Amino acid sequence: MKIYNSLSKKLEEFRPIEEGKITMYVCGPTVYNYVHIGNMRPVITFDMVYNYFKYLGYQVTYASNFTDINPKITKAAQELNINEREVAARFIKAYLDDLKNYNCNIIDKRPRVIESLDDIFKFIETLIAKDFAYVIDESVYFRVSKIKDYGILSKQDIEDLISGSRIEINEKKENPLDFALWRKTDEGEQFDSPWGKGIPGWHTECVVMINKIFGPKIDIHAGGVDLKFPHHENEIAQSIALNNNYIANYWMHNGHININNEKMSKSIGNFIFAKDFIKEHNANEIKIAFLNTHYRQPLNLTTKIFEEAQNINNKIIAVLKKANLHLNINHLKYTKTSVKDALFEEYMNDDFNTPNVITLLLTLVKELNQEIRTQGKNILLLTSKILTITNILGLTYNMPQLTEHQREIYNKWTEERAKKNYEKADYYRQELIKENIL
Ligand SMILES: [Zn+2]
Repeated sequence: MKIYNSLSKKLEEFRPIEEGKITMYVCGPTVYNYVHIGNMRPVITFDMVYNYFKYLGYQVTYASNFTDINPKITKAAQELNINEREVAARFIKAYLDDLKNYNCNIIDKRPRVIESLDDIFKFIETLIAKDFAYVIDESVYFRVSKIKDYGILSKQDIEDLISGSRIEINEKKENPLDFALWRKTDEGEQFDSPWGKGIPGWHTECVVMINKIFGPKIDIHAGGVDLKFPHHENEIAQSIALNNNYIANYWMHNGHININNEKMSKSIGNFIFAKDFIKEHNANEIKIAFLNTHYRQPLNLTTKIFEEAQNINNKIIAVLKKANLHLNINHLKYTKTSVKDALFEEYMNDDFNTPNVITLLLTLVKELNQEIRTQGKNILLLTSKILTITNILGLTYNMPQLTEHQREIYNKWTEERAKKNYEKADYYRQELIKENIL
């Protein structure tokens, strides 16, 4: 299968480090507030990626962190008048609630910075010993000039980077691009370190957590495109210094989200929290709307996109309801994990072309409707295919078993229809509609 690697800027044949196994890491939220719908895009995208790898038979380990030590958390603590640990706990819980409401719950490992401090100290000490980092005024900085590949991910010239980088007042660095591995602070929460009281730098936190869970290199490192620079570039620089690699063989980035062609921002007033969004749209509709645009493209959320997603979701619900009745009556058992479809795999193997997969789903829905109308032989196969594919996309559909009572009504309905007792038949039909069977 082919994956677009942000590092090489090419579609590359995917080969895992260890045969049959995949390790993946997606940068998680900084827990200082509720997450917005832009944060849900990597979650929905990489759940789908994970599910597809599982379907292909890989053993996948998926980690996504909580950035629970960060100046943003200190600022929130001051505003909310609680301490940093309470802020982190509150928004970790809120995020986990969001994931549950969006039916996204498959991450295997959720490391936290607070549990990784000793590893962070060791990591920074090694970088200092190797001369890749230096201490100034109890802060530790990374020496970017020692990395000749610096800028490889974001493909920026060092000159551009220097002119674009902001130098904060009071920062005494050798080079404006050097970034803090450890930052001295006298505000809010501080931790004792070999260099004085302070907090770790964000770019260091992710590398340390990856190394701690997986070792020096993983298969896939992913996140939103806005993290490419400086976050991911700086993760790579540290990994080159310490492990002589780019942390991951494949870097994947999802595009950003616009709302009605405008960038989401607090100042425009179109900023949407994930928790509010899920009150207006159900999880399936949101996922269909997201996945109907290729993950690397910017996603423009409009009313039209949601109407389309709702329409697609309703078509799937309607056909599965009919199929479920047929399968129940005929005692047929579907599967929702393993039915192969060549076209589906062709699309997914092309860097996860989910818009094509959704078009394929609509074709399968049409075929299944036709099969049910004609009582064809492929009802079970088509149902299982649709359920397998929707399951990989992260969509959830109920296929309830008929109760004895419901089965009885169904049989009476069929009997009365056969006898042409239309009035009685219609009574049972209404009963079945009430039971949500028809
Ligand atoms: Zn990260």
